[in-house]
Amino acid sequence: MPKWLRAVFTALVVLLVVLGAGYYWFVVESSMPDDANYAFDIREVRRMVAAVPGDKPEKVEVERIGSFSFPATAIVAGDGWAQRDMPVFSYRLVYPDQTVIVDTALSEELGGGNLVSFDEEAYARMNKAMSEASLIVITHEHMDHIGGITTHPDLPAVLQSTRLTVEQLAEPDRRGPAVFPDGALDGYEPLDYEKYMVIAPGIVLIEAPGHSPGSQMIYVQEADGSELLFIGDVAWQYRNIVTQRERARLVTQFFLKEDRAAVFGQLAALKELSEAEPEISIVPGHDGEIVGSLVEAGILIEGFGDITDEESGEE
Ligand SMILES: [Zn+2]
Repeated sequence: MPKWLRAVFTALVVLLVVLGAGYYWFVVESSMPDDANYAFDIREVRRMVAAVPGDKPEKVEVERIGSFSFPATAIVAGDGWAQRDMPVFSYRLVYPDQTVIVDTALSEELGGGNLVSFDEEAYARMNKAMSEASLIVITHEHMDHIGGITTHPDLPAVLQSTRLTVEQLAEPDRRGPAVFPDGALDGYEPLDYEKYMVIAPGIVLIEAPGHSPGSQMIYVQEADGSELLFIGDVAWQYRNIVTQRERARLVTQFFLKEDRAAVFGQLAALKELSEAEPEISIVPGHDGEIVGSLVEAGILIEGFGDITDEESGEE
């Protein structure tokens, strides 16, 4: 073999090895890091709920506002390049005398070309429900969870009942392209809590920074004792918990700027919880199959009904 050919061959092999290693690192690798660590004490959460008197939610409703579509490996590293549905949801907890919204999806305009579907009627029902709600909380500050707030036609009124945390407001870039209009947050007092906080009878906010600084899980205990845990985007889909695998590093490092070890710690804690307490319904941020099966089981009710007809609401 001539010298120059050997040089070209060697360079090609080196290039392939580097590319292969890079592909593995950024697209496939997803092993539990040594420093993954997250403490979740379900007994403490239940104790806190038991200590707060008052009616608990009687039902939990869900609206599917629209959907993204991502390559599987973006959701669970190593799962390949087939496109997977990433639906966007909003939830409503219905009490005898009030309603609470958990996550507010986003407007069609905010989603833009990233959306593969959008349900205008569901979005309109959510906007109305937000105006009627006594409390609005979000799992985190990303545009597909906070966007329904920033674009709400009656933002000043809706902000009165919205409880955003200090962390959710600390880094406006994290919300992009969702933005609050100039001055909208003047005088707004965000929530500041440590680890757990009962925000209404049967609802506990649980700090879970990692996917974003303002990420929190929302535990719900209904009047009949059934329990749900809205984990936001700690896991986009339940498969992240089952396999104990994170999103591809390409996504967590460059697009999300996640604290990957923190998310891994939460995935481990959630797996442990799911095994110890299988009756708790864990609801990932974007899992159409899980939401579908919870609807089928009657744990979630599809669509925000008209509360003015059936409840003794203020209207
Ligand atoms: Zn999301």
